[in-house]
Amino acid sequence: QRGSIEVICGPMFSGKTEELIRRLKRAQIAKLKVEIFKPATDIRYDATAVVSHDLNSIQSTPIETSSAILLLSSNTQVIGIDEAQFFDDELPNVCATLANKGIRVIVAGLDMDFKGNPFGPIPKLMAVAEFVTKITAVCVRCGAPASHSYRLVERQETFLLGEKESYEPRCRVCFNLDK
Ligand code: ADP
Ligand code: MG
Ligand code: ZN
Repeated sequence: QRGSIEVICGPMFSGKTEELIRRLKRAQIAKLKVEIFKPATDIRYDATAVVSHDLNSIQSTPIETSSAILLLSSNTQVIGIDEAQFFDDELPNVCATLANKGIRVIVAGLDMDFKGNPFGPIPKLMAVAEFVTKITAVCVRCGAPASHSYRLVERQETFLLGEKESYEPRCRVCFNLDK
């Protein structure tokens, strides 16, 4: 098998986790050996499962640093990584190493933070990936396709775990309102 890097990106509620789970379940049906990783800090729905907002889920291994993937993925043919924006800057190198070994690497994560800036290692991954899928949510204010994640709470840190109470997907126009 030829290795490759696939990136699934977009704002919160755009269906990144759903799409990641869809691709990984099909790989499992094809009897490929699949491993899924997520940052140990993401405990919103479950400590070990990757869970979409629709409550679709798949069992995963929580890890602290991206290099742990290299140690924990022997004999794996397909690797899924969710919430990749929370990982360190080594993640693009880790993914390239895996892909160079013949592994199909599928990475899902936010492309922009709540300020609309490129988020963590995702921009670099988008540059080095063979395939980039950028998806949209539905703007909760006007119904247009939403590319941005609007923070509803008055907190300035980039890393703020949250759900519907803290973030909502918005289009560019609605994102720039009340700013
Ligand atoms: P992500 O991983 O990108 O945050 P998920 O895959 O977890 O997204 O969830 C996507 C699901 O969220 C959709 O299929 C839909 O059921 C639900 N959803 C809730 N609010 C919205 C919205 N404003 N736009 C799109 N989907 C939404
Ligand atoms: Mg998700
Ligand atoms: Zn809008």
